[in-house]
Amino acid sequence: MLKGKTALVTGSTSGIGLGIAKSLAARGANIVLNGFGDHEGPKAEIAAFGTQVAFHGADMSKPAEIEEMMKFAAQQFGRVDVLVNNAGIQHVAKIEDFPIDKWDTVLAINLSSAFHAMRLALPAMKAANWGRIINVSSAHGLVGSAEKSAYVAAKHGLIGLTKVAALETATSGVTCNAICPGWVLTPLVQKQVDAKAAAQNISNEEAKRQLLGEKEPSMQFTTPEELGELAVFFCSPAGNNVRGVAWNMDGGWVAQ
Ligand code: NAD
Repeated sequence: MLKGKTALVTGSTSGIGLGIAKSLAARGANIVLNGFGDHEGPKAEIAAFGTQVAFHGADMSKPAEIEEMMKFAAQQFGRVDVLVNNAGIQHVAKIEDFPIDKWDTVLAINLSSAFHAMRLALPAMKAANWGRIINVSSAHGLVGSAEKSAYVAAKHGLIGLTKVAALETATSGVTCNAICPGWVLTPLVQKQVDAKAAAQNISNEEAKRQLLGEKEPSMQFTTPEELGELAVFFCSPAGNNVRGVAWNMDGGWVAQ
């Protein structure tokens, strides 16, 4: 389905981004990976699908590096057909205690990076009259939680940005939508599980159960593979007229 197309997934050296990259590679897309830490392992995982894979280590908090990454992707594969804005970080503190630099960094990586990647990807998508922009927001793009002001603000903002992009491309073959996961057991959430276990002197399993119990009626983590298949749907012909949605995959979190 995506043979000959190129997907760039930000923050795809681990977790949800890697899951989405694998689902798109399984449908034939060439992949540009991005993120910190080991990238040889993720590259090998993608190459196993028989598609081409490249890596760029742009820091998504830095607009100049995002520009370099987009140029690199165009040089490698001609253009970016599918842009998945997934890179994200979390910081947990009450508003009055929230470090100013952390606020700026969370907003830069979780929100502004998507604006920069989109403004650079859209001209080629519009020229080709085909493109898919998928923004990984969160259940926290739809509802709030205490002590996550920067994250919740960024994720709500990302859904607003998604809607505007969907309107600006509405008469074209380019679509823009958001995915809103609930809890997914990635390194980002494992840190929160570890913090809860340490703070309450409880086991890791009990901390996971409490985390789910607070938010997710299903008492199940959503998986990167499930989110990857939702991204595939947005890229499929059935997704041609799906525009500006914020699709939660969250075990019932925001249904409450
Ligand atoms: P993760 O920590 O496993 O992966 C984050 C990825 O982003 C990694 O590849 C990391 O290297 C990369 N990254 C971090 N800072 C970066 C930077 N400055 N520049 C480039 N890359 C950077 O986290 P995850 O849980 O897979 O999160 C992925 C996205 O999904 C995030 O936007 C997150 O907010 C969102 N999300 C996660 C959950 C969850 O429960 N895990 C729920 C809802 C939404």
